[in-house]
Amino acid sequence: MNHDDLPYWSARAADWAANYHRTLRQHPVRAQTALGETAAKLPAHPPEDPEPMEAIFGDFETIVPPALTHWQHPRFFAYFPANASPASMLAEQLANAIAAQAMLWQTAPAATEIEQVMIDWLRQALGLRDGFTGTIHDSATTATLSAVLTMRERALDWRGNLQGLSDQPRLRLYASAETHSSVDKAARIAGIGQDNLVKVQTRADHAMDPDALAAAIVADQAAGFVPAGVILCVGGTSIGATDDIAACLAVARTHGLYTHVDAAWAGSAMICPEFRPLWQGIDGADSIVFNPHKWLGVQFDCAVQFIADPRPQIKTLGLRPAYLDTQGQAEPVNYNEWTVPLGRRFRALKLWFTLRAYGLSGLRARIRNHVAWAAEAEQAVSALPGIRITTPCVLSLFTFRYNDSDADTAALLERINNDGRIYLTQTRHAGQFVIRVQVGQFDCTREDVMMIPQVLKDLTAKAT
Ligand SMILES: *Cc1c(COP(=O)(O)O)cnc(C)c1O
Repeated sequence: MNHDDLPYWSARAADWAANYHRTLRQHPVRAQTALGETAAKLPAHPPEDPEPMEAIFGDFETIVPPALTHWQHPRFFAYFPANASPASMLAEQLANAIAAQAMLWQTAPAATEIEQVMIDWLRQALGLRDGFTGTIHDSATTATLSAVLTMRERALDWRGNLQGLSDQPRLRLYASAETHSSVDKAARIAGIGQDNLVKVQTRADHAMDPDALAAAIVADQAAGFVPAGVILCVGGTSIGATDDIAACLAVARTHGLYTHVDAAWAGSAMICPEFRPLWQGIDGADSIVFNPHKWLGVQFDCAVQFIADPRPQIKTLGLRPAYLDTQGQAEPVNYNEWTVPLGRRFRALKLWFTLRAYGLSGLRARIRNHVAWAAEAEQAVSALPGIRITTPCVLSLFTFRYNDSDADTAALLERINNDGRIYLTQTRHAGQFVIRVQVGQFDCTREDVMMIPQVLKDLTAKAT
């Protein structure tokens, strides 16, 4: 295969993709394949000689689709959908063709500058104050790790990077048990240790108790620990738990702690002004992450971190060896210094395409529909015999339980996903097995969402 062959095969791939998306509703959402089935279809050894693209493409068509969980299926209500709007798919094709490494301004001026402008467009779109800047990471996990590393170095006056952590005081981080596991992972990787991530008590509404946060910080200081930072959540992954941002940021500020807010899926909803009370006070945060690859429809991967003052993070993560010096340039933004990896993809392009192709009005309409339809589905589900709503809608996420039994709820979930018309996943809440419903697939319709109560009605009626 060479560059002359690429247009033909690109066209074949585009036709395949269009047909794939057009016919998704005919397929079960969750993969119905057995463990090891796909691997068994591949030769055990790599090919010694070149193979014709026709054979490679043919195998793709027969082997891959049957073994997929269809993330772009309009009835995907599991986890949070990782969306891929057609406009963002097109931008990714172009970014793939360019294949630039956007590590320095010099290595990709267009990527760096479009990224800066997209961050500012999104800042305005989400209603954040003037002054936030930021960057695009591969994932919320990397953004949170970057913020936690910044908390560490800031608390140690940047000694950790040079001296290591062995002789440093023990640092403490604070988050509620509702925050995502990426916070635990960041505490581990940063060398702070998961035992030093204090899980602050929550109130009845599942939000971190600001008084308990203050008490934990004071107690730690008295015990000789060094508090370093607070991680808050807006729309937790499990049930959508949302901290009182204004109150918790005020406590953090009183004690001089760095703050990071994880709004990975819910953050996109803030393009709608009516949802902004959910993160009231957000302008006081040091760092915020949200994933346009979730609810804004921008193809994975695209995680945006807003930063109030980028200098501490750059001081933590930036390294400039001689071979990365940009000779003779006025000081430009070199985005590798804002994050963990050196090499970076041109991710801003798909944001540019998506924001322009749908407009904020088009994206708002989708999110508002999802929130309204989720509430409608919750209402219909709550009326079914044996089903109890365990947590009500936070934006477009609710959970329920069947026959008030872990075993019956788990068995129902298995029946739902074997049925295939919809895809749901589970979590544990208040010690119990519950089923999550999350509406957010870019192309879903009201009819798709109302398939949730329909499937539940069919499957609970059949069950004994
Ligand atoms: C999805 C999600 C994450 C993890 O996102 P990645 O980009 O996959 O790392 C973190 N926090 C919340 C609240 C999420 O919903």
